[in-house]
Amino acid sequence: MTMNTDFKAWRVEEQDGSYVGSEQTLSTADLPEGEVLIRVSHSSLNYKDALSASGNKGVTRNFPHTPGIDAAGEVVEDASGNLAPGTAVLVTGFDLGMNTDGGFGEYIRVPAGWCVPMPSGWDARTAMIYGTAGLTAGLCVQKLLTMGAEPAQGPVAVSGASGAVGSVAVELLAKLGFEVVAISGKADHAADLKALGASEVVGRDALTEEKKPMLKPVFGNAIDTVGGTPLAELLKQIKPGGSVSCCGLVAGPQLQTTVLPFILRGVNLLGVDSVEIPLADKQAVWGKFSGEWACPKTEQSARDIGRSELDAALKAFLGGASVGKTVLHHS
Ligand code: NDP
Repeated sequence: MTMNTDFKAWRVEEQDGSYVGSEQTLSTADLPEGEVLIRVSHSSLNYKDALSASGNKGVTRNFPHTPGIDAAGEVVEDASGNLAPGTAVLVTGFDLGMNTDGGFGEYIRVPAGWCVPMPSGWDARTAMIYGTAGLTAGLCVQKLLTMGAEPAQGPVAVSGASGAVGSVAVELLAKLGFEVVAISGKADHAADLKALGASEVVGRDALTEEKKPMLKPVFGNAIDTVGGTPLAELLKQIKPGGSVSCCGLVAGPQLQTTVLPFILRGVNLLGVDSVEIPLADKQAVWGKFSGEWACPKTEQSARDIGRSELDAALKAFLGGASVGKTVLHHS
């Protein structure tokens, strides 16, 4: 058993009803039980981290807490004996950063069943450029492909296109030969979305509430990262036989729709979870991103921050102002 080590973590505490994050010194003795102790070099920022850091009890029940649903680094010790010290690993989802201290600290301790060996050719920073958001974009695309989506069906709409999930989805779909219509509230970001591969960028008003239960079908398929009214409006605009992968709720968890898109056009609504799926399913998507699905533009445009910049970066997520992928470096 390794000696306990002091380390730095960005820790969120409740203070008079509000939630405040700051850098604190913890000991590995403070970490939860688990087989694998990992020295974390990088983490990735996600909308869920912003929810945890702002005290959302649906994500994190107890504070003080270290958020960070993604982590990449090196194994220090593994009581299960499967991972040798020094093995490069990445961890995304499961309970990490929710009610288990997460990647915004320099160390995590987790079950062996959460750890994926680093895909060949990747380092920790590259893995965290993709992170849970990239994994989710990959799973959304994979579900569309499983349903038989092809470029000939027409353009694929991506809502929340400038966000962490949406931006990877735009680049990956374009790479696979799809015409991509990016739906974004950030008019000043249109050129960046086109550079990622979008052929057209339209405002969020393309998905404002309409009374009609069906609209002109213009999209072959879609990836929706926002939920709520935009998802309901998207479903009305999908061509017969098309599909919508749905993964997010930044515009709201409610979905008010009729059955008409489903029964008159055979539209498929595909749910995507990146958190609790089997490790092998995560590993399969990582394998693709480290190979034929590589998204070089996402990799080149990722932003690097340190712990002192976390507070502002997380608040941008809650305001819908975050753009692309942000990687946290611990040193
Ligand atoms: P981001 O904040 O990076 O992206 C969301 C984007 O949605 C924003 O950048 C913005 O893009 C748009 N947006 C924000 N607020 C609104 C609004 N009120 N109405 C319409 N559009 C809005 O978040 P992530 O990409 O990290 O996550 C997106 C969603 O996916 C979240 O709900 C997250 O919880 C969920 N998620 C789910 C996972 C799963 O396993 N199912 C895993 C990962 C994420 P723009 O300005 O371009 O319109």
